[in-house]
Amino acid sequence: MGNTIKALRRGIKAGVESMAHPTHSRFEAGGKRVVCSHCGNTTFDWVGVLGISHAGYGIQCSNCTHLEYFGNRPREVG
Ligand SMILES: [Zn+2]
Repeated sequence: MGNTIKALRRGIKAGVESMAHPTHSRFEAGGKRVVCSHCGNTTFDWVGVLGISHAGYGIQCSNCTHLEYFGNRPREVG
């Protein structure tokens, strides 16, 4: 239960941050630049927390709208 609340709080924070930065961003996860696995694009928009049984972080490709999904928050690199 505590984890769910924490995940929700993180989701709200991500949502607020995405509104503060409406332009597409680039991300890194695990020390590697995030590249869309469908089209190879490197700019994404936050979609906040995804999932009900497993909370994670989703970013949506700004070109093809494919969703990349991470258990840990990817680092925004501009
Ligand atoms: Zn794409």
